[in-house]
Amino acid sequence: MLANEGKHLDPDGAYLALVASRDDVAIASELERLDALQAFDGSDEALASYKGKYGICGVRSFSARSEDGERHAEIYRLEIETFPRHVNNVYAICSVHEERPFYLLFDVGSGLPSSQRDLDLAFAVMTTMFGRPFSLAEVDECVVSHAHSDHCGGVTILKETTRAKLAVHELDARVIDGFEERVVLVTKDLEVFWRRAGVPAEQRGFMRDMYLAGKQLFRSVPIDRLLRDGDVVGPGFVVHHVPGHCPGLVCLQVYDTLLTSDHVLSRITPHQFPQSITPFAGLEHYFRSLAKIRALGGIRVAWGGHEEPITDLRTRIDEIEAFHRERLDRVLAICARPCTVHDVAIALFGERSGYDVILAVDEAGAHVEYLHQVGKLRVHNLAEVEAAEGDPVFKYQTKSAVPAPAA
Ligand SMILES: [Zn+2]
Ligand SMILES: [Zn+2]
Repeated sequence: MLANEGKHLDPDGAYLALVASRDDVAIASELERLDALQAFDGSDEALASYKGKYGICGVRSFSARSEDGERHAEIYRLEIETFPRHVNNVYAICSVHEERPFYLLFDVGSGLPSSQRDLDLAFAVMTTMFGRPFSLAEVDECVVSHAHSDHCGGVTILKETTRAKLAVHELDARVIDGFEERVVLVTKDLEVFWRRAGVPAEQRGFMRDMYLAGKQLFRSVPIDRLLRDGDVVGPGFVVHHVPGHCPGLVCLQVYDTLLTSDHVLSRITPHQFPQSITPFAGLEHYFRSLAKIRALGGIRVAWGGHEEPITDLRTRIDEIEAFHRERLDRVLAICARPCTVHDVAIALFGERSGYDVILAVDEAGAHVEYLHQVGKLRVHNLAEVEAAEGDPVFKYQTKSAVPAPAA
């Protein structure tokens, strides 16, 4: 394995670097793991224990069971570097009841060389260290959780080189099978949003170039199956449509395990952008989708599209919702004096650079949009907006509290 798929790895060097950076390992709360690695004696028991707890080369294995205990599936979490220093969890799911196992891939990485390299390595680890031979050639069906390139960019290679059927929610299908159209339209919509948000012209040009950089890497591919809420994939895995972070985002329920993709993550709160850019995005949809997943029964553990597993999904959902409610309160306070979305972004996040500027304006825009939708903000410069040609800058102001009705 080290001679082929793992030839870029340097286990001895990596081990020395880890030991030397013990302080950094402590900051990442991984000291226990480093100690386990240092105490490793090469025995089968030590290997099984380490592998079960931490996995190997980013591959972790766990199993999902149906409520009656009749059915189960093996799930492998594969850590893939999809963009420089950006890691995704891809899931290889094997249902082993049938005469021939059913192999499902949930997400497929970005398709960039690092992403394909890590997939190959992960499959080699599954084969040699976990005794489950696997490769892209085995995949029966690939469900793309949503049409963000770190999760779905690899569909081009998948469709062009394997027999795997590609499934995606119908609201994200136009991005996968009409990518060129999508890039043109979303660029126009972003331009309108940024103008109205009050982003200065020279910064808009820079943001546009940054947004388009890398978009040439992907090509449209045909989709084999359009998914809808409640659909069943494979031998009984259920699709839950959760618009918000992305219009066609789906969670996949594999018996007592929920793969949440970017809907719920263990540490960071998933990025939000306004539905004025794309219908079915926006905070209103996101809150509803959080409530929908919170109400699901029988989930023992959830695994996101990034980061670590979530053992208490409802508590994590409550934390994420509270985080946004608090941010909404901050936006109301900021808009006590009239503000553009760009002003709100700077007040929330400070002056940012690079791609962070786009993310900050998106995030501020999603919160301002929600507050406007629910009647807590009003457009302050309405006469100016009415008289202007093209796309004028909008300034928002917090409405004074409506007095409670007299008892
Ligand atoms: Zn995403
Ligand atoms: Zn993601």
